[in-house]
Amino acid sequence: MPVTCSSCVRQAILKRPKTGDALCKDCFFSAFEEEVHHTITSAGLFTPGETIAVGASGGKDSTVLAYVLKLLNQRYNYNVQLILLSVDEGITGYRDDSLETVKRNQQQYDLPLKIVSYEELYGWTMDAIVKQIGLKNNCTFCGVFRRQALDRGAMILKVDKIVTGHNADDIAETVIMNVLRGDIARLRRCTAITTGTDGALPRCKPFKYTYEKEIVMYAYFKKLDYFSTECIYSPNAYRGFARAYIKDLEKIRPSAIIDIIHSGESLSVKKEVRMPVQGQCSRCGYMSSNPVCKACVLLEGLNRGLPRLGIGKEHKERRKLADKLAREEAESISTSVPGSGEMDVVVAGKSCGVACSCQSDTSCVDSTTADLKVLPVAGCEDELNKLQLDRRKPTVADIDF
Ligand code: SF4
Ligand code: ZN
Repeated sequence: MPVTCSSCVRQAILKRPKTGDALCKDCFFSAFEEEVHHTITSAGLFTPGETIAVGASGGKDSTVLAYVLKLLNQRYNYNVQLILLSVDEGITGYRDDSLETVKRNQQQYDLPLKIVSYEELYGWTMDAIVKQIGLKNNCTFCGVFRRQALDRGAMILKVDKIVTGHNADDIAETVIMNVLRGDIARLRRCTAITTGTDGALPRCKPFKYTYEKEIVMYAYFKKLDYFSTECIYSPNAYRGFARAYIKDLEKIRPSAIIDIIHSGESLSVKKEVRMPVQGQCSRCGYMSSNPVCKACVLLEGLNRGLPRLGIGKEHKERRKLADKLAREEAESISTSVPGSGEMDVVVAGKSCGVACSCQSDTSCVDSTTADLKVLPVAGCEDELNKLQLDRRKPTVADIDF
């Protein structure tokens, strides 16, 4: 017997996973969009006049996010400018295809698109990285590099914020993973709707309370053009277990996802627990709680043929290398004279007296000097973007292990 929509008189065609309500198509669209709008406005995610980069992978989450944000921006006059920002990890047969979807979305939604690639930023594609390290730990490299790549793309675009398509299921999985790992620092921030307000670009998750199943339903009934193939290098076993665990929980307690998020939000950490202190990477200027950021350590390992260097939490080799790199950077900063050596380091700031090609007060890098190693400085985006020049070649003397 046909079931009537619980919001109108039409025939229901679905049962909402989040509430169990029977709804018709239009009432489902309306409930979905209004909930995202409520999340955005109650958390004050956007300010009129801002430019927002939508992290776009071509997958269901980011495709629905771009579509819904464009719609809500027009409907409620958020008065923000939306730009699609994609990262090309260099995964043949996966990312090249999904980027084609993003390019179609660009046309369909009439939004500007910027693509940044690992190859251009780091000198390595994921295909090349997997050739070196195999199919274990590849997601560690990919995740660390992607995070920075998205920030770098956003800096190039000079946007105010990044929004990502992380949904309620993703966040609940992350809470469980951090509990199981005992990673208190991440546990504390993983349920925040906005992160990165302490220096880096703010990142927001408008789908924080949106169930993955509903995103799939929305994309399906709206006939959105998205890419659904899994990454060919996707072992990510740990997240897979967390996901399976939550799915099992949901069978006996349908509100499990939202309950886990609320539990994560309500956790308070004792004052005595030591938290990492956020500083800056001495090599690339990116925020880091270590002297050298994880991306730089991973990259150094790849460039030296020691790809396991940055793997693991407290890897002995990583600590050794990080200390050594930091020492070397500090020494070369204090002793270098521009143009005199094979690989000169020019210090950011006014101390070296060299005029920066970008005319910024905060940087004085003479990028015209041959073999110059550019040290980017926070606040000088042009120089930060030049990091790619530095990253294509290992520059520090070999280290004995
Ligand atoms: Fe990168 Fe791993 Fe995701 Fe593939 S599954 S895109 S390798 S993080
Ligand atoms: Zn770094």
